[in-house]
Amino acid sequence: MLPGHVQAGPEDTVGEDLRRGVGVTGEAGERRPLGHCDGAHSTVRRLAGISAHRTVHPYDVLSVDARIDAGPQQPWSHWGRDGMVLLLPFGDGRWRLVLYPYRQLATGGTPGAADDTGPAEELLRRITGRDLALGEVEWISHYRCEHRHAARYRHHRVVLAGDAAHVHPPTGGQGLNTGIADAMSLGWRLAAAVADPAHDRLLDAYAEERRRAACRVMRLTGAMLRFNATPALWGHALRVAGLGVARLPPVRRRLAAALAGLPGSGASTGARVRSGARAPDVPLLPTPRSPHRRLFEALRTGHHVHLLPVCGTPDPRAATSALPLLTVRTDAYRQAHVVRPDGHFL
Ligand SMILES: Cc1cc2nc3c(=O)[nH]c(=O)nc-3n(C[C@H](O)[C@H](O)[C@H](O)COP(=O)(O)OP(=O)(O)OC[C@H]3O[C@@H](n4cnc5c(N)ncnc54)[C@H](O)[C@@H]3O)c2cc1C
Repeated sequence: MLPGHVQAGPEDTVGEDLRRGVGVTGEAGERRPLGHCDGAHSTVRRLAGISAHRTVHPYDVLSVDARIDAGPQQPWSHWGRDGMVLLLPFGDGRWRLVLYPYRQLATGGTPGAADDTGPAEELLRRITGRDLALGEVEWISHYRCEHRHAARYRHHRVVLAGDAAHVHPPTGGQGLNTGIADAMSLGWRLAAAVADPAHDRLLDAYAEERRRAACRVMRLTGAMLRFNATPALWGHALRVAGLGVARLPPVRRRLAAALAGLPGSGASTGARVRSGARAPDVPLLPTPRSPHRRLFEALRTGHHVHLLPVCGTPDPRAATSALPLLTVRTDAYRQAHVVRPDGHFL
């Protein structure tokens, strides 16, 4: 969303500003596409008439960021008969406590409105049998887990990104990463489409590619939610077995890549390069025109990067690049490839 275009405020005002500023409802002469990331309750999504499929899960979460002085030294998790607890350190004495009670929360107040740690301490005691005094509280939030997914990410000039397009349970902490990856993928496409409407199809490709990526996140968060929070005895047995399997190095690596939103990342340079896959950070051979020593360094220019092997022929797609192209030399590949500014193969 461009700053200044949409103002927070009463809904009518927002609608009016949208009409004047962004022209969602059709301002004459305004044709440029715009990216919108106005969060889970996106006004833009609603005004653009993009529907969102919503599933609410029967699981509550209570999250607290607080100081814990006499707590564990390491990240800590516990699955009990009454729920699950995660304790994650920020590294400066502050911790995030995440509680999944298996029965609906009865905190008796407005969730997140107060700094009353009583319900969290009580839940912690009930689930773990352990007393932990929470110190200075920064933030408390109590919410019901849900999936919400926009039916499409593009409608004419409106292109959605972040929580405006997809919301999912916090399992795996993937919300922010997924939104940032949307922004990385959308930024250069918008720049190209605004500069030359002939590149408009890049936005359709964004909508398709990022919706597919969000579907993967939806599936993973849903599976992890059920894994974490199924109260039945079989759920507990599955967790004991599953946690054992998750400690195996290959499973751990795959899970880490999936949680980082980078499935298939780390593929060796010998592997077949797949269009749309994340490119690994390969070494480059610096030249007077391109002093960069690594691919990720070259990508910071915001250009498409044409990886040209020492004895190879250029990638024909380099000639039709939508954005400025930076040609670099490498001996990491036998064939030439083009890497998009968002770090994925063209
Ligand atoms: C309780 C909770 C815990 C979370 N924990 C994690 C976690 O541990 N890890 C993780 O990765 N993710 C987490 N998330 C998810 C993460 O916060 C979101 O995925 C992320 O913030 C989405 O970013 P966004 O920019 O798309 O939307 P938002 O962060 O919601 O930003 C939208 C912005 O648009 C503005 N806006 C909205 N409407 C208008 C308007 N009409 N005019 C002008 N401005 C407007 C809002 O003020 C806001 O600044 C959590 C979310 C919640 C609710």
